[in-house]
Parts: sequence; C-alpha cells; structure tokens
Amino acid sequence: MKKDKSRTMTTNLGRPVDNDQASITTEGQNAMTLLSDSHTIEKLAHFDRERIPERVVHAKGAGAFGTFEVTNDVTAYTCADFLSQVGKKTELLARFSTVGGEKGSADTERDPRGFAVKFYTDEGNFDMVGNNTPVFFIRDGIKFPDFIHTQKRNPQTNLKDPDAFWDFLSLTPESIHQVTILFSDRGTPDGFRHMNGYGSHTYMWYNKKGEHFWIKWHFKTAQGIKNLTGPQADVMKAKDPDYATRDLFTSIDKGEFPSWNVSVQIMKPEDAPNYTVDTFDITKVWSHKDYPLIPVGKMTLNRNPYNYFTDIEQAAFSPGNFVPGIDASPDKMLQVRLFSYPDTQRHRLGTNFDQLPVNAPKCPFGHYQRDGAMNFKQEAGPNYYPNSFDGPTPDKKWATPPIDVSGMAARHEYEVGDIDFVQAGDLYAKVMTDQDRTHLINNILGHIKGAQKRIQLRQTALFYKSNKDYGTRIAEGLNLDIKEVEKLANMSQEERVKATAQ
Ligand code: NDP
Repeated sequence: MKKDKSRTMTTNLGRPVDNDQASITTEGQNAMTLLSDSHTIEKLAHFDRERIPERVVHAKGAGAFGTFEVTNDVTAYTCADFLSQVGKKTELLARFSTVGGEKGSADTERDPRGFAVKFYTDEGNFDMVGNNTPVFFIRDGIKFPDFIHTQKRNPQTNLKDPDAFWDFLSLTPESIHQVTILFSDRGTPDGFRHMNGYGSHTYMWYNKKGEHFWIKWHFKTAQGIKNLTGPQADVMKAKDPDYATRDLFTSIDKGEFPSWNVSVQIMKPEDAPNYTVDTFDITKVWSHKDYPLIPVGKMTLNRNPYNYFTDIEQAAFSPGNFVPGIDASPDKMLQVRLFSYPDTQRHRLGTNFDQLPVNAPKCPFGHYQRDGAMNFKQEAGPNYYPNSFDGPTPDKKWATPPIDVSGMAARHEYEVGDIDFVQAGDLYAKVMTDQDRTHLINNILGHIKGAQKRIQLRQTALFYKSNKDYGTRIAEGLNLDIKEVEKLANMSQEERVKATAQ
C-alpha cells in the first residue's frame, strides 16, 4: 500500500469527521449508543452491504489494464476500426480466472482459466471472453448449468464430488477433448502470464465490402507456456492460494509487463460445410495446418488496478459485446452465452452495470435506455425513438452482413460420432511428449480414483476410444479389466450408458 498525503476523514457525503474510534453513547457504565450517531450508523450499514453476489463461474480472478497494438494489416477480413491500421493502439482491460472455485479458492486448482479482454474501441467496447483452452466440454449451452453444478459442491455434503464430475463427463462424450487438455499440465498453468488465451468459439469477421469470414482468436503468451505439475500445483494451493494473482500484480508493479501475440485463423464461409469438423462445434479446433495463424497484433498489460473491487470485481464482460466488423456465428454454445453473460451481470451488478467506469465505453454513445437503479448518467433529451428533437439515430451503414439461418426449428441434438474422439487422440498421440502423457495419466488417476467403478469404466472407455494406449494406461492405473473397457469402448454411447447403469 502506498502512503498518501494526510487528508481529513469525512462521512460518505463529505462532512468532516471528528472521531472514528468512539461511537456516540450516553455516559458511564451502562452507556447506550445513540441513534443520532449517523457516522457510526453509516459505517455499519455500508459494511453490512459490502458483498455483492460472486460470479456463478469465474469467481476467483485477477486483472490488469493495458494496450493492444495492431501489428499486421487484416483490413481484407474485418472493418473493425480498432484493427484498421498497423500501429493503432487501443486501451484494454484483461481479467483471468479459474472457473469452478469460489472467490476465496486457490489459484492453482485444476480448472480451465478464463481469459477475458475488454477493448475500449472508438466504436464501442469489444469483449473477447475466452479461456486458456481452445475447446470446451459441451457444445450446446442448454447443458451448461448441469455441467457447472458437477464442478461445484455436492448439495448435501457441500464437498467436491468426483462421482458427479466423472458421471456427467462420461455421459457427455464430446467433453473428451477438453478433458484431455484439462488434465494435461495445461490445466494447472504457472500463473496467468504463462498461458495462452483462445476465443474458442468461431466468430464472424466482415470487411468493408460486406464479405464475411469465420474466425478463431488465439492469444499466445510471449512469456512462453509454463505449467505446474499436478503435485506442484497441490503444494502451491497451501503455500500460496493467491499465487497467480500475486504473480500478475507483482510483475506489473515491477515494470515487467506481460504480453501476448494475437492472431486469428480465418475460414471462408463457403469452406465451412465441407470442413472435417463442424465449424461451429466448440469441442473441436481447426488444425493449424489447414488454417494457419494470421498475426493481428500484440496485447500488453502495463497497469495494475487502482482498486480491485471497482476495476476487476465490477468488471462485466460479455461475448456479445461486438463492434462493427466482428459478430457472432451460429455456434450453439456461443448463442446461449450471448444471453447469459449480460443477464448475470444485471443480477450481480444491477441494471446499469454498464455505467460503471470500468464497463462504460470511452467513445461517445447515445441510446434510449432510461432509469433503473443507480443510474447516474443519462441524457436529458427525448426518451423515445423516433423523435424530431435531435435524439440519437440508427444508421444502416452499421448493419452486419446477413447470413442464411433457415431450416426447421426443433431440439436438434448433436450425434456423438467417432469424429468426437479424433482430436483428443491426436493431442495424446501426436502433440504430447512422453512426459506430457505420463503427467496426464497421473493427473487423471489422482482425480477419477474417487469415483464409483461403473463411472470409471464408462469414462475409461472414452479414453480408450480416443487412443488405445491412453485408455489402457488409465485402466491399468484403476485396476479395471481392459477387456471390459474395450467392450464398452466398442458400444454406442447409448449401450455404454445402459451397461454401466448399475
Ligand atoms: P499442430 O501440431 O499444428 O498444433 C498443435 C498445438 O497443440 C500446438 O501448436 C499447441 O498450440 C498445442 N499444444 C502443444 N502441447 C499441448 C498440450 N500439452 N496440451 C494442449 N495443447 C498443446 O496440430 P493441429 O493444429 O492439427 O492440432 C493437433 C491437436 O493439437 C488438436 O487436436 C488439439 O488437441 C491441439 N491443439 C490445437 C490447436 C489449434 O488451434 N489447432 C490449439 C491448441 C491445441 P498452442 O500454441 O496454441 O498452445
């Protein structure tokens, strides 16, 4: 904490305070505190209301301000103003977090890490709300509340529950790719500075001509990937539960500014229907060989929050905060997030959360939203549109290019197929080193050993389907019959679920 020059203490409304150590009471042994002591009452009443709801997910986090600088010309693909010129700089806020743990939980828990960036552009705020993994566990947002419940605490014991964790994942085979990344050492990054960020979803970019493209964001750490092993992460939970928070703050404080090289993969829309994987399925990556990374710019974090609560706790990100040149894709998981993020911010922070300095745009803005709790900034002018009193007006030039989304409306389920196991298998067999594989196996065993045997069998069959060696090593570690695992792996998911019901 830095020393400030001495100042007079006041009440919230500025009245100088004479004494902050004794409340106003009657005299003597039976002294009673008087209601007329409005300073004491204000102090206690505000204290009673200090807590706001913590985020349902991503509650524990840290963040910092910084700058994004364009390094490469991408104007052929997007008309986003903040990407319009090499050398152009945009102020930003980044927040990193774990996902499942409460606000006081340890930074080195095995979990994906949130990687959210708010760009304060001249055409409104653009939020890139991703993770440190390029994929996710599920691909339809309707499953999200259930998935998160399994990562939280058992409703009766209030303990983390390996049965719930592996029961859900083994009943949700599309999770296998993300599970493989999560249980690799990338699931316990060495602080926030040494991990990559990914938009994970497919997004739309469009250019000045109205041509659109499907893109994926990649933020590659310039500090290099550095992870903790499972045992190192466990030790750190006790030694310094705020390890990543401390590391980020201290390095920026010392003038060691972390940076990330930002690039995108770009797909022409006509290629999407024929690509090997569903372009909009967030459980899949686009191979770098098919879609090489195209450099865009560099993000540098160079300013710590002035106050954690106002700058980071109250920061509200939404994947739906787009600017002209960037928009959503028909990714089912993204579509649900577009609703859920601002919805939870309204609950957590209030209807006018976007007026808080950290969330407010830094460019001029004008709209007809009015009133609501804690409103401190709205126009005096007309509160309806259309009007003939010079209120703000829309302009068709800002329209996103149309895309065809016709078809029969129904609850269309993704079918689980062999394709859902390919990328997890590739990661295991072609990308990981021997040491990576050994750590992965040990990390999984350390967690799944607490689950019931029938659940272990069902999940191990999914590892086996991804790669025989992968499944075999897990089966051996759990003392499971490999013949039984193989039999389950060769069944359809429906049959497998029936066979492991009891
Ligand atoms: P590449 O060989 O071109 O890419 C492999 C990528 O895997 C690397 O560039 C690195 O991405 C990432 N990686 C390296 N080690 C690990 C690890 N232990 N855990 C997780 N990721 C790791 O092949 P492809 O692009 O064809 O992808 C092959 C597999 O790599 C995929 O099935 C996927 O599992 C994984 N992968 C692919 C990514 C992509 O966008 N194509 C991104 C990340 C992983 P990075 O530098 O981004 O960390």
